[in-house]
Amino acid sequence: MAFAIGGAGVGSAQTLLPDPVEGREVKMGSQAGLDAWVKDFRSRALEAGIPAATFDAAMRGVEFNPKVVERDRNQNEFSKTIWDYLDTAVSEDRVALGLQAIARNRNLLERIEADYGVEKEVIAAVWGLESAYGTFRGDLPVLGSLATLAYEGRRGAFFETELIAALRIVAGGHVARFTGSWAGASGHTQFMPSSWEKFAVDFDGDGKKDLWSDDPGDALASTANYLRYWGWVKGQPWGVEVTLPEGFDYDQTTERVVKPVADWQALGVRTATGADLPDHGPGSILLPGGHRGAAFLIWPNFQVIEKYNTADAYVVAIGSLSDRMAGGPAIRSGWPRDLRALTLAERRELQELLGRAGFDPGGVDGRMGPKTVAAVKAFQKARGLVPDGYPSLEVLDRLR
Ligand code: CA
Repeated sequence: MAFAIGGAGVGSAQTLLPDPVEGREVKMGSQAGLDAWVKDFRSRALEAGIPAATFDAAMRGVEFNPKVVERDRNQNEFSKTIWDYLDTAVSEDRVALGLQAIARNRNLLERIEADYGVEKEVIAAVWGLESAYGTFRGDLPVLGSLATLAYEGRRGAFFETELIAALRIVAGGHVARFTGSWAGASGHTQFMPSSWEKFAVDFDGDGKKDLWSDDPGDALASTANYLRYWGWVKGQPWGVEVTLPEGFDYDQTTERVVKPVADWQALGVRTATGADLPDHGPGSILLPGGHRGAAFLIWPNFQVIEKYNTADAYVVAIGSLSDRMAGGPAIRSGWPRDLRALTLAERRELQELLGRAGFDPGGVDGRMGPKTVAAVKAFQKARGLVPDGYPSLEVLDRLR
């Protein structure tokens, strides 16, 4: 979690791995190469405090996994639109299974909610997206995945640190069957080993911070602990679906513009049913699918969920799924389903062309970050399009 996203359950909308280091040597991987790397790594691990006996037992027979490397190299290649993502992430099935999971674990979740101040439906929503409520926790050996990625080199230092943290988990006897998804996230809520070090708790008091066994108690409490650490406010919604009035100024639709609810109300913003806005303090307006899709008024809990995954689609999915399990409504607005997601090549082309047209997208990396969105907005304004900042194929075509 916090880094590798979507876990085994849904497939990520975005992954928060650090960028590959420019110009770094990327090895053609092989088992022999990995074995040599492990030999070399051993002294660094021991220096970091891993007992030699633990290291030797855990790393014996660690396998090079070319599929992990392939997955890492292609992770930005495909992306989904938010509506395609939400169709799967907040399907009726996932809502129903979530309600069953809450019913099965009601006592546990209520104790965690009381201890950590995070609503049980929110914890369950993270569980639902990260591992389909514990059903798909991932079956790749975590040490093998991390060793492969550390050895392979693009983000070697990052994964070596994670591997050392993973070895500490092993050394402490916290895990029996250490498997996870491709980038080393594992357990019911897909923690990276470094997140385990910082945030895992022993909720059942058996002396182990065990995020991997069938009993989800430690994992769910650790997730609540994570959200609490980042400032979760109990009782504050992540956001609420809203309607914007005709002629709304789209310069306001960004997380960077924060206003008291009374100001949004005065500007004509209402809930999706046309009611007055509930006041949960200053918030922002977000249009994650452009002006033809749903609009949300979001509060700081939105940014707390972003600590799991910064993709709007992921945060809206967690929020909407938790709302549904708490008896709230589904998202009412439609989405511009005629638009498809841009490919990585198209996202890069969009940035390239924006830059050439004098609108700085903040680099050509295929990531639709705040600078790219601002550049799209500026371009849309200059061409008399609705300046919603949504990087659509239409915008790309206008730039071509
Ligand atoms: Ca425990």
